[in-house]
Amino acid sequence: MSEFVNNATLVELILACTAVFGGLTAFATLIGFALEAALGESRRIFDLPRAEGQLRWEFLATVRFVLMSGVAFGALLFAVPIAEPAFGQAVLTFVVCWAGFEVYYWGLHRVMHTRALFRFHKFHHDSHVTSPLTGYSMSTVESLGWLVGLCGVPFLLSLFAPISVEGFLAYHALYQISGNQIGHSNVDFFPAFASDREKSWISHPITYHSLHHARFNNHYSFGSSFMDRLMGTEWADWPELHKRVVGGQAMKKLSERGKAQAA
Ligand SMILES: [Zn+2]
Ligand SMILES: [Zn+2]
Repeated sequence: MSEFVNNATLVELILACTAVFGGLTAFATLIGFALEAALGESRRIFDLPRAEGQLRWEFLATVRFVLMSGVAFGALLFAVPIAEPAFGQAVLTFVVCWAGFEVYYWGLHRVMHTRALFRFHKFHHDSHVTSPLTGYSMSTVESLGWLVGLCGVPFLLSLFAPISVEGFLAYHALYQISGNQIGHSNVDFFPAFASDREKSWISHPITYHSLHHARFNNHYSFGSSFMDRLMGTEWADWPELHKRVVGGQAMKKLSERGKAQAA
């Protein structure tokens, strides 16, 4: 893979990245819808309808994000030094991409919830009850904000060590894209033990982010919860609500609260 990237032109890299990241996004979206079909009765998060036309606008915004990310990732891989395939280098790229984006995204998301910048983030929040297409359903400005983080983190790493294409791809396939698409499904397939806060530091259950869409002003983390925990932006009742969802009791209204969280 590194040989292809090192020898490809910028246009070839943009086309390849659009195809690969678009394919991964489509695959993760299909898994999300399959999970909704399979677990709709037993693990539904909100027993509420999605908005009229929601899937259509989410799909169009996702296509826009995929096209923008194809250009951004193609340019990134064209510009940075690429490592020879090596397991250690792949792990380093994966871990730095993961940790860097988790910290960056919490900050980006938090400032987009300020009065001045919420207009750029509103598009994502038009989906009150989420779907496997909600993940990349966002405005052009917010999409640019994501791509600054998704490209900026590996670019900064490349100043110290060459990037592993395999590690970069693995991060997107196994955490970023799958986490974002499947993680916006309106069903929660996480096991009962995921209700334990201590087990959510690097990956929280789906209900955790569904509550952000329902309530808005906490849970700004991407896939983990360590930034919310460190910054004091975590709701106290999510473990209880996750337990209910896993027990087959979907939430009936967006304003639903657990005992640990006063209304
Ligand atoms: Zn979301
Ligand atoms: Zn938000």
